[in-house]
Amino acid sequence: MRALPWIIGGGVAAYALTRSRSTSTTAPTRSVPTAPLSGRWVWPVVRWNGRAPVISDGFDSPRPGLPRHGGVDIMFARTAADPYKAGTTNGTKMFVMPDGLSAVAASDGVVWSASQTPQGFAVVIDHTPLKAATFYTHLEKLLVTPTMSAKSGERVRAGQPIGVIGASPLDGEHLKHLHFELWLGGPSDRIDPAAIMRGWEVVTDPSALVARNAGFLYRPIGESGDAYPEWVRALRDKAGVYVIRDLESREIVYVGSSAGTLYETLTRHFQTWRRWKGFWRGQYGEGHDPGLTYPRNSVEVAVRLTSPAKSLDEEMRLIARLKPRDNLIGQVDRAEDTVPF
Ligand SMILES: [Zn+2]
Repeated sequence: MRALPWIIGGGVAAYALTRSRSTSTTAPTRSVPTAPLSGRWVWPVVRWNGRAPVISDGFDSPRPGLPRHGGVDIMFARTAADPYKAGTTNGTKMFVMPDGLSAVAASDGVVWSASQTPQGFAVVIDHTPLKAATFYTHLEKLLVTPTMSAKSGERVRAGQPIGVIGASPLDGEHLKHLHFELWLGGPSDRIDPAAIMRGWEVVTDPSALVARNAGFLYRPIGESGDAYPEWVRALRDKAGVYVIRDLESREIVYVGSSAGTLYETLTRHFQTWRRWKGFWRGQYGEGHDPGLTYPRNSVEVAVRLTSPAKSLDEEMRLIARLKPRDNLIGQVDRAEDTVPF
């Protein structure tokens, strides 16, 4: 295995070794740096719905039957509105972690290893010329190229997604969280990063579709057969735009507008029977059935009211900005900010 010039031992292998020594009761610890590391450093967990992550279990915390904690665990402080029950894979009484959230590189560097381990996928990033490396584990998926023992070298930037946060297969509770370590010399020189992380920025996942929300409030619209919520019924003679996104993936699927019948125009997308009556015929060329109807319980909707004269312009602006999956005209770039007047 190619060793980092300054790492003594074998990185993840050495890490695994130290972790498997269950007779060991203390995590090796060196003096904690007080000065910030040079370069840009970010929390290795992205912001989630505007919330910054927190350390849910600190460095060196004792664990019955296991070595003391060699890094920090990162989750989100539970709020009353969080849907996850304590004791599930997504939460404890105090902390939560949603599905599918990205772990990101804490700083610029080179992927030194990215591989499956008994504790999930793990990544080590070498931050040379700093004598520093970072270690991320319990990932359920890698977003960097997996490395064989002798191959590596993929460059990553601070804040770049490197994996999807999961749970350790060895953890009986299967609690999703990121285990993160900062090594200032090698796996045996891991330090408590908590103090230094206070100065780190929290980034928004650049690959998250949720980042393209354009400030809209998305709300569910109920089940098929239910009355529509009051806020939908209130659109009956209004003008404006609507955005439909997939509830699960958060992908924006459709943007539309109406100059005065917003309720009818919007709710047509949830009346699947209309397709069979040819409702959409004439709006699109033959062979271009865009599949514009969606099961109500699979999507959520955001609405912005406009004047009747502005609704189409706003629709075009949003299509250019949000690039919805199913708008055929969305393929045409009409971004207004590219027009020089
Ligand atoms: Zn941990």
